[in-house]
Amino acid sequence: MSSHALPPTAYLRYNILLDMESGIHLVPLSGENRFGTVNPATGGILHEYPAAQARDVSLAVARARQAHQWWAALPQLRRSAVLRRVAAFLNDERDSLARVITSESGKPLQEALVSDVLVAADAALFCAAEAASVLRTQQVPHTNPALLLKRGELCWHPLGVVGIIAPWNYPLSIPAADAFAALATGNAVVLKPSELTPQTVLELERIFARALAAEGLASTPSPLQVITGLAPAGKYLVASEIDKLVFTGSVPTGRRVAQAAAERLLPVVLELGGKDAMIVLDDADLDTASSAAVWGSMMNAGQTCISVERCYVQRGIYSRFVSLCAEKIMKLRVGDGTQPETDLGPLITERQLQIVEQQVDEARALGATVHIGGHPLRELGRNFYAPTLITDVDRTMSLMCDETFGPVLPVMPFTTDDEAVTLANDSEFGLAASVWGRTGRATAVARRIRAGAVLVNDLISGFAIAAAPHGGIKQSGIGRSHGRLGLAEFVRPQFLDVDLMPRMKKLWWYPYHSNFAPMSAFTDLVHGRGLGRRVRAALGSLPLLLKHRS
Ligand code: NAD
Repeated sequence: MSSHALPPTAYLRYNILLDMESGIHLVPLSGENRFGTVNPATGGILHEYPAAQARDVSLAVARARQAHQWWAALPQLRRSAVLRRVAAFLNDERDSLARVITSESGKPLQEALVSDVLVAADAALFCAAEAASVLRTQQVPHTNPALLLKRGELCWHPLGVVGIIAPWNYPLSIPAADAFAALATGNAVVLKPSELTPQTVLELERIFARALAAEGLASTPSPLQVITGLAPAGKYLVASEIDKLVFTGSVPTGRRVAQAAAERLLPVVLELGGKDAMIVLDDADLDTASSAAVWGSMMNAGQTCISVERCYVQRGIYSRFVSLCAEKIMKLRVGDGTQPETDLGPLITERQLQIVEQQVDEARALGATVHIGGHPLRELGRNFYAPTLITDVDRTMSLMCDETFGPVLPVMPFTTDDEAVTLANDSEFGLAASVWGRTGRATAVARRIRAGAVLVNDLISGFAIAAAPHGGIKQSGIGRSHGRLGLAEFVRPQFLDVDLMPRMKKLWWYPYHSNFAPMSAFTDLVHGRGLGRRVRAALGSLPLLLKHRS
């Protein structure tokens, strides 16, 4: 990165642009159609990139369409070999990649390594191993006796060109997992990273090119095309000639994307926001559950779609649980993610910090108790917010209904298991949840929660299980990424049927004249009960066979 970094004086050349759809951007004063990125911890300018225009997006899609021809024609083994190389290169370059991710997103280096680089590498290996089974042809049995003399197959084909629009919070693992699934199944990809974290995806593009070259496939164009840009680049991609779109981001943008996609009946996967509940039953291990609540709400400064956003704790253990969380939150170290001692980095932008601040301030005004934090840490920089523990909360507060996406742990007591389930399900979202307690009881509660994934005695780690599907219900989205269901999003079924008696005219074709009685008898031959009835039905349907014999 340092070779790309602009000198500090370059800051003077930037204007702050507040885009209501996608946040704050630095836009160079000189030169059209470019945008800049900022280190959220230091406020320093990192780099500037082209902001793709409609024509750039069309050209990228056209290049991907061309690449799809040769990429889809490769044997599966070769595509999988490329992805295995990608996994190896991600591993080789893991430390430098983690540093790029931290510089753009602010997250601690360890998180960049574990939840971005390692998850991406594992996803590459999973897709390499599983794509063949998703593409495998299946036999389709014919149960209707009239159709026995045919052979049916269900074939699976790649879709063509897949568009991917990505967020900034997991700038590598999210777009990489989707891109690998699409590529493994023979598609080409046009990928637009978040405008806040483009460098990470450009590194992925470089690593993919390296893997192609290592496999002797450095043909141009590449089946992975990356376009950098602001919200309009995303809009152009939705409107372009892609065959499917995977969008990961906020609910408001997701809704706009779905509306635009509906105009041209473009199929979409939407991975949107969450308001995940954590339920702590009174037979949970309190030390473990409190550590989980703190990590699950604070990691990546709370900017995780499946982070703990609401914590419900059974009354008998409530006070002790809150005290344990308070003790543990007080020990967290907030700072620059490049420093080894840092547990929590900054929020991504000042705008994101304002959302968190507004929700906490509103909750406080409505009677909530802030035990720890509840304020920005201006002394560290513009984007830092103190890890916050808050109780006396309820669903009249936006903190308990809307996505917070910040380092805030709101805790609320409940009495019975039924009440816990009702509270957890009382949300517009349904992304993930976790239940803590004795395994049998916690699992029974988990089954009743309406969310795409529910973990028992763990949280968030489901995202790192490459074989586990990720995605939500209700406002949290449509479709799945990861796992076999994620791979299946990128293939289209084709039913192929071959008639084994090509010269025989079918019984049900024209002319209909006097067909009804023999047809009715034939129906009885298939569904009638008793041997005598079947024999009579066979005789009754004879005229059909005679009439339509070849
Ligand atoms: P965002 O909606 O602001 O932006 C996401 C992407 O959409 C960016 O690349 C942006 O440039 C692009 N975009 C903006 N306007 C667009 C438009 N009109 N048409 C097409 N593209 C457009 O989201 P964000 O702030 O980058 O990400 C945070 C949100 O993402 C949170 O709500 C979080 O919960 C959600 N998220 C969900 C998942 C999941 O798997 N469900 C994972 C990560 C993040």
